[in-house]
Amino acid sequence: MRTAIVWFRRDLRLTDNPALSAAVGEYDRVLPVFVWAPEEEGPWSPGSAQRWWLHKSLERLDEALGNAGSRLILRRGPSLEALKTVAAVTGADAVLWNRLYEPGARDRDSAVEEALRQAGLTTRTYSGSLLFEPPDIATGQGNPFRVFTPFWKACRATPGPRSPIPAPDSIPRPGDLPDSVPVAALDLMPCIRWYEGLEEAWRPGESGALSQLEAFVEGPVANYASRRDYPGLEGVSRMSPHLHFGEISPHSIWATVVSRSTSGGERGAEAFLRELGWREFAHHVLYHFPETPAKPMNDRFTGFPWREGPGEALEAWQGGRTGIPIVDAGMRQLWETGWMHNRVRMVVASLLVKNLLWSWKDGAAWFWDTLVDADLASNTMGWQWTAGCGADAAPYFRIFNPVIQGEKFDPDGGYVRRFVPELGCVPPRYLHKPWEMPESERRKIGFRLGADYPEPIVDLASSRKRALDAFQSIKGRAES
Ligand SMILES: Cc1cc2nc3c(=O)[nH]c(=O)nc-3n(C[C@H](O)[C@H](O)[C@H](O)COP(=O)(O)OP(=O)(O)OC[C@H]3O[C@@H](n4cnc5c(N)ncnc54)[C@H](O)[C@@H]3O)c2cc1C
Repeated sequence: MRTAIVWFRRDLRLTDNPALSAAVGEYDRVLPVFVWAPEEEGPWSPGSAQRWWLHKSLERLDEALGNAGSRLILRRGPSLEALKTVAAVTGADAVLWNRLYEPGARDRDSAVEEALRQAGLTTRTYSGSLLFEPPDIATGQGNPFRVFTPFWKACRATPGPRSPIPAPDSIPRPGDLPDSVPVAALDLMPCIRWYEGLEEAWRPGESGALSQLEAFVEGPVANYASRRDYPGLEGVSRMSPHLHFGEISPHSIWATVVSRSTSGGERGAEAFLRELGWREFAHHVLYHFPETPAKPMNDRFTGFPWREGPGEALEAWQGGRTGIPIVDAGMRQLWETGWMHNRVRMVVASLLVKNLLWSWKDGAAWFWDTLVDADLASNTMGWQWTAGCGADAAPYFRIFNPVIQGEKFDPDGGYVRRFVPELGCVPPRYLHKPWEMPESERRKIGFRLGADYPEPIVDLASSRKRALDAFQSIKGRAES
């Protein structure tokens, strides 16, 4: 009897899971194992919102495996010890897994692979979470890409993503499965119930991912190109946490969007597939420049005088109390739901790194703890892009004006009113800049700036100039 362990990590699904399908196809008995070993991810162990999601997702995976005749074997790390123990008690001869691309995970995986081989086990790894493997895409000179458009052109010039693999009908198992710790014993759920908003907003797990995708392809995808920038509309897919935890593969999303694209909806579908391309690009960059979560990709920014560490302005930003409505709406959406619309992520990040001249690393750390989709590749790229120091970054002189952004992308104010209800009575023309409302009008509606809602913590015009001067001072330095 040949037995294989499938080591689940961020591929918490049965459909289009290459390691699982290979194990089911080639082995007599299959052991689905998940090892909780956050310390192995270095400084980037999952944040609070991700832990909440992981708890739920592991429960759903266990149920799905149960429906296929098996169950999830949960263990605490270290990963190598856990895998070796399960192999020893079950007589498994192979360990199969889908690859991860973060620097910490790659180091851990190569060490585990080497040690398992030395212990006489077969190891095999598969491509399950990216459409294009980072080492397979290169410039004409064989170098990694630093700019998105040629990267995406090179990806699209390949034969393209493979078709998704169907979920196995049943998973063969030994009569006795080894011990497993209950999900609750991993202590992923916070003691304080701050996650009620997350529970309302999301359905973690593979079936939640599939219904979310179904709702998207049935409606918003056709108008994605024109509506994706409006945070108050149902214009985007909200697939990011499902993708991060691998509850659905990008291949499944790609195939569904392509096959369901309607006549007239092609532009929306193509724009959406391009966004999946940004996810690929973020992983490509992180794979080739693994130091970027801690260091600007562009050396010119080394030593740039960003403020770091705790401080009042950072706390006001984190708490959605900056006095700038679109920023506060975004930060409160993040706190309440564990997610923020992409347009607003750019606006809140720009306020922090440019107007407040606060380090992008502090912003990235807050997102890391609070986002359900916190992803080392995309978060690092998003922050470095906004700060101007990353791959294909926004130029340093592009400083989002949050008032103009609010008026343009939340024209009826629905988004701001939803997350900042204390501005509910403010007339539309002042909603994105309540400080400009004359005192007489404020009195008429009983709105007290500074009491009901904060005065802005920063003057947008002078802070813009200060940022431009600071960025100008590094302009002459050689670019890396
Ligand atoms: C400062 C900042 C931080 C960010 N941090 C993260 C993060 O931690 N995790 C994360 O998944 N995304 C991050 N993003 C990218 C983007 O905001 C989210 O992927 C997107 O908002 C997720 O919502 P959605 O699934 O509805 O996206 P959709 O618009 O429906 O796009 C579909 C998918 O494409 C991918 N995608 C879209 N835009 C981007 C992008 N700019 N970069 C990389 N992938 C993209 C995502 O996987 C997304 O689920 C960040 C962006 C910024 C500006």
